[in-house]
Amino acid sequence: MFMRAIWIWVVGFALVGCGSTSEPLVKVEPLEDPTPEVAMTHDFAVPVLMYHRVSELTEREERSPLMRDLTVSPADFEAQLQFLRDEGFTFLHVTEVAEALKFGKPLPERAVALTFDDGYKDNFEVAFPLLKKYGAKGTVFMVTNNLGRADRLSWPNLIEMSVKAVEIQSHTVSHPDLRMLEDRRLLSELVDSRQILERGLGKPVTSLAYPAGAFDDRVVVAVAEAGYLSAWKKGGGPVRPGDSENPLLLPRIRVHGRTDADKFRERVMSGVYLRQMDKRDS
Ligand SMILES: [Zn+2]
Repeated sequence: MFMRAIWIWVVGFALVGCGSTSEPLVKVEPLEDPTPEVAMTHDFAVPVLMYHRVSELTEREERSPLMRDLTVSPADFEAQLQFLRDEGFTFLHVTEVAEALKFGKPLPERAVALTFDDGYKDNFEVAFPLLKKYGAKGTVFMVTNNLGRADRLSWPNLIEMSVKAVEIQSHTVSHPDLRMLEDRRLLSELVDSRQILERGLGKPVTSLAYPAGAFDDRVVVAVAEAGYLSAWKKGGGPVRPGDSENPLLLPRIRVHGRTDADKFRERVMSGVYLRQMDKRDS
């Protein structure tokens, strides 16, 4: 250490002596990946994207219009993540969006939330590694009765995801049409799924995705009674600050198997365009 100090002093003296004082003696390397400053706004417009499966299709699934619709290919999903990262989007959990609404907090000007309904196994096997690769986060809306089924997420899957970048929220116990249930069963679908996940993961569960996006006034009252702070529909545009009036009726934007790169761009940029239009009009 002492010898090194002497050496630096000698070299430094020589450099000063030569008159080339502009170069520092110890070169400081810039940080490899400096986090860019993220511009925040209270007037946000955040697309909350709704996925189901991220997988290749088997031959049999290929013949099913429903499966083709629910399934985004791994290559498309990766291209979508790449696009979001290249365009400078910040990835949020749905609870962060809900909290910003509730407490009037700002969110990044370019933000997106990725959600996955039903809890397909490929969310862990395919989507999760890609989320990690791109430094992205997501939210899984889990149907608790599906836990451990061969093609669905298991407890170990949920636990591993929930400690790294993926939050787990509720999609009821058995994915019924909530409008069709009598009061007691309705409440148990909502409360039990929340409690099962909270006990298993040790984390609060405060968000619900309506199965098949179906709800009515009675269902919304039950969702509030069951303790949820936000609930997510199917369809609608980006989440705007005005949605704080209806935190149990928040919009999401579907990403289908057939959503090509242009359509994806249009959907995910809809928040950016909306804010630009607002600025022009004001
Ligand atoms: Zn569902």
